[in-house]
Amino acid sequence: MSTIAFIGLGNMGGPMAANLIKAGKTVKVFDLNPKAVQQLVEQGAMAAKTSCGAVAGADVVLTMLPAGKHVRSLYLGDKGIIATAAKGTLLIDCSTIDAASAMEVAQQASVQGFEFVDAPVSGGTAGAAAGTLTFICGATDVGFNQAKLVLQDMGANIFHAGGHGAGQVAKICNNMLLSVLMIGTSEALQLGRDHGLDAGVLSQIMKVSSGGNWTLEKYNPCPDVMPATPASNGYQGGFMVDLMAKDLGLAMMAAGETGSSTPLGALATAMYRQHARQGNGGLDFSSIFNQFQK
Ligand code: NAD
Repeated sequence: MSTIAFIGLGNMGGPMAANLIKAGKTVKVFDLNPKAVQQLVEQGAMAAKTSCGAVAGADVVLTMLPAGKHVRSLYLGDKGIIATAAKGTLLIDCSTIDAASAMEVAQQASVQGFEFVDAPVSGGTAGAAAGTLTFICGATDVGFNQAKLVLQDMGANIFHAGGHGAGQVAKICNNMLLSVLMIGTSEALQLGRDHGLDAGVLSQIMKVSSGGNWTLEKYNPCPDVMPATPASNGYQGGFMVDLMAKDLGLAMMAAGETGSSTPLGALATAMYRQHARQGNGGLDFSSIFNQFQK
């Protein structure tokens, strides 16, 4: 598996593709944004003018796109990846999308004899840059074993959650929990600040106490507590509010399908949608902290 087509070079896809290049793979890249393509070319990638151009001659196709509609439109149809890829090409989608879209693409791929793997990721832009992402795969055993050989150059943990679509279900469960933790951490930090506590000191206390969680360890939402976080950089970069609102919409859809009770997820969905509607959709999701300011 030496030639990899990588389509979707945004906040996540860019650094992921760069890690494949560092691992010695030949990487052909395409994105609608020419600047993103140029950045990868400067790191050793080959530029393609279209998605089909990237896929031609590749052993593996990797996609990292915003949502299900982008994935469906790239893979399906007469000019889609499934119709144009060479026989035996391994297809891996790392985007976070609805499980129904992932299963539809997998089904069409399987009819044409391809292995398709839904492999959404956790670990954020820092994990993408460091090559320490967690991949959560939905695939056949054969597809998973093939995908592992490619994903190991970009991640530290690679899980087989189940059949097609299972990776997406596990991923939205994780992100629903993350949104709740981010909101809870924000309100606790602000409560402390309102009573005169220093956010850094309070964060240190809670991190090693029973309220400790990933947001306090790696992604503090209060500016200037951790230097390298989006919060300390005007909430730029990272994981956009619009994408978190999308993932929560997927979680609510999934809960509706099974009649599952997700009251905290529902509240987090309402809060992130409201935050996006107030013009914050392009900021990092930790900017929800600002909702608690006086
Ligand atoms: P992004 O918006 O930064 O990047 C998406 C890229 O896809 C853009 O460069 C865009 O131009 C490109 N694109 C869209 N349609 C295309 C098409 N038809 N052909 C080629 N390129 C196309 O988003 P991101 O933050 O990189 O996230 C990508 C996916 O990963 C999303 O599903 C998101 O939910 C998920 N995710 C993001 C993070 C994070 O921290 N940013 C973490 C985990 C998962």
